[in-house]
Amino acid sequence: MVKEVKTTCPYCGVGCGVIATVEGDGTVAVKGDPEHPANFGRLCSKGSALAETIGLDGRVLFPEVLGQRTGWDVALDLVARKFSDAIAEHGPDSVAFYVSGQLLTEDYYVANKLMKGFIGSANIDTNSRLCMSSSVAGHRRAFGADTVPGVYEDLELADVVILTGSNLAWCHPVLYQRIAAAKTARPAMRIVVIDPRRTMTCDIADLHLAIRPDGDVALFMGLLGHLAVSPTIDRDYIDAHTQGFPEAFAKASALSFTEIMERTGLPAMQLRKFFRLFETNEKVVTCYSQGVNQSSSGTDKVNAIINCHLATGRIGRLGMGPFSLTGQPNAMGGREVGGLANMLAAHMAIENPEDRDRVQRFWASPTMAEKAGLKAVDMFKAVADGRIKALWIMATNPVVSMPDADAVEAAIKACPFVVVSDILRDTDTARHAHVLLPSLGWGEKDGTVTNSERRISRQRGFLAFPGEARADWWQMAEVGRRMGFSGFDYASPAEIFAEHAVLSAFENSGSRDFDIGAYAHIDDAGYRTLAPFQWPQPAATGSCVTRFFAEGGFYTPDRKARFIPIEASSADRTSENYPLTLNTGRIRDHWHTMTRTGKSPRLSSHIAEPFAEIHPRDAMDLGIRGAGLVELESPHGKVIVRALVTERQALGSVFVPMHWNDQFAAKARVDALVAPVTDPHSGQPASKNVAIALRPF
Ligand code: SF4
Repeated sequence: MVKEVKTTCPYCGVGCGVIATVEGDGTVAVKGDPEHPANFGRLCSKGSALAETIGLDGRVLFPEVLGQRTGWDVALDLVARKFSDAIAEHGPDSVAFYVSGQLLTEDYYVANKLMKGFIGSANIDTNSRLCMSSSVAGHRRAFGADTVPGVYEDLELADVVILTGSNLAWCHPVLYQRIAAAKTARPAMRIVVIDPRRTMTCDIADLHLAIRPDGDVALFMGLLGHLAVSPTIDRDYIDAHTQGFPEAFAKASALSFTEIMERTGLPAMQLRKFFRLFETNEKVVTCYSQGVNQSSSGTDKVNAIINCHLATGRIGRLGMGPFSLTGQPNAMGGREVGGLANMLAAHMAIENPEDRDRVQRFWASPTMAEKAGLKAVDMFKAVADGRIKALWIMATNPVVSMPDADAVEAAIKACPFVVVSDILRDTDTARHAHVLLPSLGWGEKDGTVTNSERRISRQRGFLAFPGEARADWWQMAEVGRRMGFSGFDYASPAEIFAEHAVLSAFENSGSRDFDIGAYAHIDDAGYRTLAPFQWPQPAATGSCVTRFFAEGGFYTPDRKARFIPIEASSADRTSENYPLTLNTGRIRDHWHTMTRTGKSPRLSSHIAEPFAEIHPRDAMDLGIRGAGLVELESPHGKVIVRALVTERQALGSVFVPMHWNDQFAAKARVDALVAPVTDPHSGQPASKNVAIALRPF
């Protein structure tokens, strides 16, 4: 019998709808869901290869303690006892969860509830910290809440689309396809790509600004200074709906045109062209992704962009607005339930005593974390110096993906008690687990995810649970129960989703953005058939808000947005010993640390091995030949990869993909080079602009 199931792709933040067809013999085929509003039937190479990645080779199928198979009761009792013992002896802040944008919202909800409301610590952080936390911080500073004001359709309706720090063609391919199709239909549409590298996204660009690493703040400050003295400035919007424009303008105008040229590395003609494009086209969308977020000034970059849209009133209207493109399939869902160390739940604030009291009363919980917990980089530093005695890592591989990856591996290795929940048995991280718990993978698990345009969609299971694997939410609820807590008797993900929906509307008079109270009474049948929808959907109206802030209504106490006055800080980290700049990033056909996409020979054939893109002049100066091996070194580590000499790369900069790990290529974990430097507002690590030395190997 043939079974067709509508689900979503587990890779990037576009959140494409997928139809999985299971044939009578168990064969699975996938295709794009023509009815899903994110992709209308399109899929990229990764999404269309999903069926090739669901085999059971390499899976962990049974709970293990110290590498030996055991039963769930033994494993879960041990986890509960070890966490309880650490808390009793050293306090709640001696334990931590490090989770993932791969988790479904229901998993995230239970993890956040257990840690913040019952254990009483906010030491839960996620690999989303490495992905989009600077956007979260920027949104909260400007809007008073972490709200994305627009929708994907705006990218098609805009007359100018600015893509900054985003290789959309490879990292959000279906959105790229949508923009490319819109440009074909309307050739007057202009695309600007701001990136030190000439990426594949530049194929549709009318203007490529090969900016210096971290030159974005100066660029958008320069743009604000230009707009403020042009007819484009929207004084009515500024006066009615914002605060702080004079201070932001004062900072921006203090930067001379010559300084902007120096800091961005861009010639005057290109800068003027960019400023004019923004000035003379009302319908402008500015998209920002990891090239903006993964920076020690990531939050300032986000606010420098938002400042320009507020100054022109170009926000929340058709084809206009700042637009954060999240990297992961459920980074947004994690934000909604408060799965970051500095957030609470349903977009409430951990630093707000009224919010803490409200959530504690709702959960009827014995305690509530009173302050922000350790963000990812600080969390692993606390593991390293012994403050964290018990650590639970779920659905992520920090030994490969965290900055200063060698130090992170040493910290995990030395931690007294490490639990890893994963689908694979032998990841670089799972290898160090005292307790390894088998989780469900894509095609097996059930829940919801939220994409970059605030659209909540179902991920549905259509495969049998392999071995004794169980859902992550179930594992955490079981441990919560075994630690003696009530409030974890969930029978299904639908029950968790309903609780999350009720909390989002609890004592919410419209002063909070995230409200999906319309789904408060959803039952198993309703959850099974849940169609994609955008938040908010309050119970009172039952209809979603598609765009925000065209008429103000921000989530600050006075309902006005905040301009953020920004300093353009120095971005050059190079030195005599480390004279080049490394940027890390993704390639088209792999995802994160390759634990899934590495299973597909088709995906691996696009680019078969790790590489460093090097400008021909740098290669010549250093005696490097194309296709030879090169060694990259920073104060934190070394990697060895293949040289790819190309003029796509800017002089003085090197690009290395983030995906490879020891399983696929020895000495290619590029995050071993990345310093644990973070943005002061978001705590997001600077995975770009890393000072390195380069030599032939
Ligand atoms: Fe999956 Fe993203 Fe590709 Fe869509 S664009 S199929 S969500 S990887």
